[in-house]
This record gives sequence, C-alpha cells and structure tokens, in this order.
Amino acid sequence: MNRATTTAFDVAVLGGGVMGCTTALFLARAGMRVAVIERDALCRGASGVNAGTLTLHMTRAALVPYAIRAWDMWMNTDAWLGHGVLATAAPGLSLAFTEHEKTLLQQRAAARCKYGARIDLLDRDAALAVEPGLNPVVLQAAYCATDGFASAYLTGRAYHAALREAGVHVFEQTPATRIDRVAGMYRVSGPDNAIRIDATRLVMAGGVWLEPLLAMLDINIPVKTLVNQLIVTERMPPLMRSVLSIANGLLSMKQFANGGVLIGGGWQGIGDRVRGGVETVPDNLIGNLRLAQHVIPALAKARVARIWLGLESETADAMPMIGALPGLPDAWVIGCVHSGYTSGPYMGKLLAQAMLGEEPELPLFDPARLVVPVEALAQPHREKTE
Ligand SMILES: Cc1cc2nc3c(=O)[nH]c(=O)nc-3n(C[C@H](O)[C@H](O)[C@H](O)COP(=O)(O)OP(=O)(O)OC[C@H]3O[C@@H](n4cnc5c(N)ncnc54)[C@H](O)[C@@H]3O)c2cc1C
Repeated sequence: MNRATTTAFDVAVLGGGVMGCTTALFLARAGMRVAVIERDALCRGASGVNAGTLTLHMTRAALVPYAIRAWDMWMNTDAWLGHGVLATAAPGLSLAFTEHEKTLLQQRAAARCKYGARIDLLDRDAALAVEPGLNPVVLQAAYCATDGFASAYLTGRAYHAALREAGVHVFEQTPATRIDRVAGMYRVSGPDNAIRIDATRLVMAGGVWLEPLLAMLDINIPVKTLVNQLIVTERMPPLMRSVLSIANGLLSMKQFANGGVLIGGGWQGIGDRVRGGVETVPDNLIGNLRLAQHVIPALAKARVARIWLGLESETADAMPMIGALPGLPDAWVIGCVHSGYTSGPYMGKLLAQAMLGEEPELPLFDPARLVVPVEALAQPHREKTE
C-alpha cells in the first residue's frame, strides 16, 4: 500500500546524531529547506550515550586543529546552538605510571603540540598540586587546559530545539530503507513507503550504520563497530577536578557536578550494529574499575550505579570520512570521527561550508580513499570489518 505523500527538500540528512544535526543546522541557517531523517530520536546513538569528554589528549593528533575549534563551540553553545549541554571546562591530565607510559605520554604530547595543542609536562609534585587525590606513585602528567566534559544525554534536547528554531523538518522514528534517483532528485523511502522524501542533496550521517546506508547508494565503504562500555558510580564527595586519562588510552574519567564519576576508556563489550550493545564483558569492567581506582585511590569506596554500552564507528584508516561521495551528484557523507563528540560541531559546520560552495576553513576527509570496489568484496578472503 502506498500511504506516503512526497515532500520536497533542498537537503535530506540521514541520521540525527551530532554530525547530521550540526550539518542540518548550518545548512538551514543558510536558507536551505532541510529534513533530518532519524530512525530513533535525535542523538540517541553514540551522540547521546558517549562519555561527553571534550578533549585533545584523546583526539588523534591530526584532528587537534578541528577539536580545538569544536571545543570553543561546545563552551559557547549560546553563540551558535542556543541551547546547552552543561559543557564544563576542566584541565585534562594524561598520566604515566610506568616508564613505558612516560615515553608514550611524551610522544603523544609532542605529536599534539605539533598540531597546535598547548600541553605541558608536569612532574609528580606538580601533577599532585593540580589533582591532590591522585595516586602519589604517578611519574609524570601531561596538562592541557583545553579539556572538559558535557552531559551527552542533553545533546538531543539541545539540537531538537535548535533545529526547530532554524526551521528544520525533523522526522523521528523514521528509518530510511531505500534511496532512489527520481527526476534528478534523491528519493528517500521508509519501510512500506511510510515516508517518501525527495531532496536535491543528500547527507549520509548514520554513525556505525553508514556502511548499510552507503550500500543503498551502491557505495561500499567498510565501517568498523566498536562496542564501548561506560560505568558511572553513585554520587561521591568531591574526588577530582580534572579530566583524567592514562597515556596508554585505557582510562578516561571525570566527576560530574552531582558527584557521579564517569569511567570509560574504550573497554569493549559485546554487540554489533545489527543487535546494538548486547552484553558487557565483566573482566573488562573489572579491568577498567581497577585502573580507575589505581589512579584515584579514594574510588575504592565508590559503588557502581549503572553501566551501559554504545556503538562507535571507525574507518579502515581510523580517520574521518567527510566530503562528497564519489560518482554521485550532490551526495555527501560525514562520520567515523575519532573522539567525534568533541569535534562533531565543527565537523558539521565544515561540511555545511563545503555544501554551500564555500571553501571550508580546514580540509575535509575525502571518502573516495575508503571505497572498496565491488570486485574486491567478491574475494573469498575479504578482511572482516567487525
Ligand atoms: C560509549 C561511547 C563513548 C564515547 N565517548 C566519547 C567521548 O567521551 N568524547 C568524544 O569526543 N567522543 C566520544 N565517543 C564518540 C562519539 O560519541 C561519536 O564519535 C559521535 O557521537 C558520532 O556521531 P554521529 O552523528 O556520527 O553518530 P551517531 O550519534 O551514532 O548518529 C547516527 C544516527 O544515525 C541514525 N541512523 C542510522 N541508520 C539510519 C537509517 N537507516 N535511517 C535513519 N536514521 C539512521 C542512528 O539512529 C543514529 O541516531 C564515544 C562513543 C561511544 C559509543
């Protein structure tokens, strides 16, 4: 049965996470008629369940110039979004407890400074002066003032209001299942033709689901799914005032104003993009908690309040894909950005600049480099992507 009436837009954005929503916002503000098509509610994927760390320490070195600009955007949401996510500036301390971590710390700090980060190395006493609750066996710390955190669960609410004010048409609970070319437009349809949206331009912003979304356009780009575990403790008295990480990347933690301590660091759970996050891996939770307690010994008294899983996307070279899709007119992609919550607002703004025919302030990340030809997919020994 064909229940849908067709609505026409200048742009259809598929996926309402931080990448899709920001792109939509800047395009609408430039005068385009924009639709965001989201199969759940806005920012309920990675953009709503992430740890909210706004950091240069964990951002890939080459993405630091983007993250610095995005950090400013998060700290000044009044100036461009109009609604907040409780973004809080706090010093970021990356820590070394072993000689190996010390070497790593110095290399990582130097690589990020090369790209414009301002990171200073602190000895043990200086690190303890910044964060008195630290385990005194710490050897060295890298200090960055451009750090902090937001409450990711507020992201959907903030963008919802901003998009509505900008006149964006938001279609929630609306999965896109098919894309056709009809009379020079992209026609996006849902199951049973429940929706039918025609648009001159297309933005694919589906996070870990970019691979099946791009397949609807016959473009094969493998996207890896990381199943990240996060832990939040019950409310604790003040235990830390900085965002703490370890140079080996296995810990990231901070304390929110309500006393809860959020602990993560990329420890993996079980799941995939078809089933979502399915199950935690207890050994990985224990490993993560042990590290947290090693860094801030007072956490020994903390009790876990909640754990959850979220899906993060990664390309074959772990760099973003943001730009025009090869071989198709007016079709674009944005996603797979490492520490993508931190950089999201700026990445969306850049893509909007390119789509508006302006020179983006910083270079995009050509998706063409990631396309796997159909013949390669037919090979029996195709590398697993998940
Ligand atoms: C647990 C976890 C912790 C993280 N911690 C941090 C952190 O502390 N700091 C940081 O900077 N980054 C962090 N990240 C990474 C960051 O959250 C992501 O890089 C970023 O949110 C990705 O945004 P996105 O818009 O590309 O994807 P998403 O937010 O996943 O949005 C994609 C959207 O597309 C929708 N969609 C998919 N298919 C369809 C379809 N067919 N039709 C319609 N809609 C569709 C999905 O429902 C989803 O809402 C973390 C990620 C996770 C999972």
